[in-house]
Amino acid sequence: MFTKLLIANRGEIAIRIIRACRELGVRTVAVYSDADAQAPHVRAADEAVNIGPAPSTQSYLLGERIIEVAKRTGAQAIHPGYGFLSEREWFSRAVREAGLVFVGPPPEAIAALGSKTAARQLAIAAGVPVVPGTTEGLRDAAEAEAIAERYGYPVLLKAAAGGGGKGMRVVRAPSEMAGALDAARREAQNAFGDDTVYVEKYIVGPRHVEIQVIADTHGTVLSLGERECSVQRRHQKMIEEAPSVAVSPALRKRMGETAVAAARAAGYVNAGTCEFLLDQEGNFYFLEMNTRLQVEHPVTELVTGIDIVQWQIRIAAGEKLPFPADLTPRGWAIECRITSEDPSNGFLPSAGRIEYLHVPTGPGVRWDGGIETGSTVGLHYDPMLAKLIVWAATRDDAIARMHRALRELTVVGIETSREFHLRVLEDEEFRRGAIEIQWLERRLPSLVGAAAPESQVTLAAVAAALLADRDRGMRRAAPVNGSGTQAPATTPWELAARRDALRP
Ligand code: ADP
Repeated sequence: MFTKLLIANRGEIAIRIIRACRELGVRTVAVYSDADAQAPHVRAADEAVNIGPAPSTQSYLLGERIIEVAKRTGAQAIHPGYGFLSEREWFSRAVREAGLVFVGPPPEAIAALGSKTAARQLAIAAGVPVVPGTTEGLRDAAEAEAIAERYGYPVLLKAAAGGGGKGMRVVRAPSEMAGALDAARREAQNAFGDDTVYVEKYIVGPRHVEIQVIADTHGTVLSLGERECSVQRRHQKMIEEAPSVAVSPALRKRMGETAVAAARAAGYVNAGTCEFLLDQEGNFYFLEMNTRLQVEHPVTELVTGIDIVQWQIRIAAGEKLPFPADLTPRGWAIECRITSEDPSNGFLPSAGRIEYLHVPTGPGVRWDGGIETGSTVGLHYDPMLAKLIVWAATRDDAIARMHRALRELTVVGIETSREFHLRVLEDEEFRRGAIEIQWLERRLPSLVGAAAPESQVTLAAVAAALLADRDRGMRRAAPVNGSGTQAPATTPWELAARRDALRP
C-alpha cells in the first residue's frame, strides 16, 4: 500500500477520498486554490499545498503543477476524484511518466472511451447494443438531415467530447437542424475545445440506468450492479438510487455482463461506469462509459457493502479483487445532490456565506459534504455542495428516511436544492417509481410551484413568526421558499436548530 496519496480535487469528493485513505492508513496531501484556503478539505488532509488562484484553469486543472507537488511532498499516487483532471488521458499518462500511480484507468482506456464516437465504435465491435446513430462527426446540416430522415425525428445532436449535458440538442424537425447544429458545435467548442458533433436517435421515455464496474490489474472485471439516475434536469442527475425498480435479477445480470464486456474491450482497470438507456420494453442501449469515480457511487457502496474508493486505491496499489461475480444488492439506497441553487428561482446559482449548517444524522443516514458553518460558497466551482445518502430495507422506507433526513438538514445563508428534493420525495409518481429521464422536466413546474403540504403550513407560520422576531437586521437569515415565506420547519428540533442559527 502507498504511504502517501495526493488528492487532485476539492469539496466533498476530496474529503471522501481523504476518509478512505485514513482508513487504509495512507497519509494525504490536499491541493487548494486561493478561494479554498479555508475549505474543509484543506484541514481534513495531513498536508495541503496552495496551487494557484481561484479559476480552475489556474489551479485545479494545472496537471503539471499538481504532479510537481506530489513529487515534492513524497506522494506516490494521485487520485483525481471526478471532474477536473479525472478523465484527461494526458494527465493519466503524465502521472505514469512521472513515476507516480494514477488512481484510475490507464491512458489507453481513457482514450478508447473518452470520446463518445470512439466509445460507440468500441461498443459496437464488442457486441454491445448502442443507441441507433452515427459513429463519426457530422460534416454539415444537410448530412445531419439525411441521417435524421433515416432514423426518424426526433434526433439528438451530441458532442463527441461531451459531458455534463453540454453540446446536446434535441431536433424535432428538419427546419430546426441547421440552427441546432450550429448551437451544439459552438457549445462543444467552448466547453471542450472540440466541435465534433454526431447524431443519435432520441429515445422517448427511457430510464437512465448505469452499471458500476470495477476491474483490477489481474484480469478480474466485475459488475457491482445498477444505479437508477432518471431524475434529471437538463440532462444532469439530481437524485440517484440503487437498485432500480425497473431492473429484475435477470436484467441486472445481462446489463452487468454487457458492461463488463465493454470494460474488457477497452482494457479497463479501476472503477468505471457504463451508462445505458433502458426503454419501456426492457431494451437497453449503451450511452458511454465514464472513466472515473461517479458522484453517485455511494448508493452502490450502501447496497453492496463495498467501499469503492478504498478499492480504487487498493487496485492502484496492485491488490486483487476478492468479490464474487454475482453480487445481489441488499436493501435500498437513495442519494440527493445538495446544490447551491434556488429551485424556486429557476435553479439560479446562489452564493454567499453559510451562516449555519445542521447536518442530518441518525439511522441509515450518510452525509458526504464539503461545507461547514462559515464556508463561503462562490461561483468558481460546481454548485454541488454535498450529497445526502440514505439506506433502508425497502424503497418506501428509504424514501421516508430521506424525507426525514432532509427535514433535519438546515442550511442558513444560501439557497439550496433541499426544498426541491422534499417535493420530489412527496410526489406520488416518484414514490411509485414511475420515473424516466424526461419525467422531471415535465413535473418540475408543479413541483416547485407547489405549496408545502397542509399540515406543515401552520407550523411553518409559527416558525416564520419566531424567526421574524430574531431575524431583524440579518441578511437572508433562513431558507426561503418560492412564495417568500419561511420554509416549513415542523419539528421542535428543526425550530431549535434555526433559532440557534440566529443567535448572535
Ligand atoms: P453527458 O456525457 O453530456 O452527460 P450522456 O450521453 O451521458 O451525456 O447523456 C446525458 C443524458 O442525456 C442521459 O442521461 C439521458 O438522460 C439523455 N440522453 C442521452 N442520449 C439520449 C438519447 N439518445 N435519447 C434520449 N435521451 C438521451
